[in-house]
Amino acid sequence: MPELPEVETIVRGLDRRVAGDTVESVWIGSRKQPLKSPASVIAATLEGKRILRVRRAGKHIVFDLEGRAKPKKSRRTEGPTAQWIVHLGMTGRMVVCEPAAEVEKHTHLIAKIGSGRELRFIDPRMFGKLSVHLRSESGGFDPGGVEPLEVTEEQFVKLFRGRKTPIKSALLNQKLLRGVGNIYADESLFRAGIRPRRRAVTITREQLGKLHRAVQEVLREAIALGGSSISDYVDADGEEGFFQLQHRVYGREGEPCLVCGRPIRRLVLAGRSSHYCPKCQK
Ligand SMILES: [Zn+2]
Repeated sequence: MPELPEVETIVRGLDRRVAGDTVESVWIGSRKQPLKSPASVIAATLEGKRILRVRRAGKHIVFDLEGRAKPKKSRRTEGPTAQWIVHLGMTGRMVVCEPAAEVEKHTHLIAKIGSGRELRFIDPRMFGKLSVHLRSESGGFDPGGVEPLEVTEEQFVKLFRGRKTPIKSALLNQKLLRGVGNIYADESLFRAGIRPRRRAVTITREQLGKLHRAVQEVLREAIALGGSSISDYVDADGEEGFFQLQHRVYGREGEPCLVCGRPIRRLVLAGRSSHYCPKCQK
């Protein structure tokens, strides 16, 4: 499942390839599961629009769209007029390719763009989501929560301080921080020296500051690593690509801690695996 750093990497690749392009026509497959807006509304919203930019909001891909392909000079639009929102779910991919490229099984949407290429959404398991938002209707797409790479230390402390839930659950709560997934939550807690089950209310101000730095450090490192594999992911078949951050705890149950040598432990918290070092984390 793509996590925030992977989505950021994908978004940068897409932005570089399609920003400024106009969507000429859209084909949408017959499967309804990925469509969170009606197919006809998605097609009508995308067709003729110019892609201003592609950006990330939490784990969502946001295409900011502008006006018609040839806007009337008298009605200059300012900023995006609509947004196309894509969530990749478990297995979703966005591919930019030549029209001659074979249409893969499980392709749910194909957008022909001005440069002559196509933007395709492929998702075998269909946990991904496609929707559109009209600016005038809703004031734009808001996934809720605070962006973890933008949150200040003070905001971060405010979000978590005093909560009675385990800190790991709070980190995964998308209404607080948006886009921090299981792997990066475990890795951040390890770097901050805090056990996943520890209740947020028992964590000192200083430790929360350390956790804030750890979350941003882990995400930034992963994005930096992903940056060199953008082209693989977006252009080719997408299965390969990311140079993953070397996990220090995630998925390493029973293996020695890279700091102290104790075996890494795993526990299940709210149905998700959590990995931690019993010595380095308190
Ligand atoms: Zn350790």
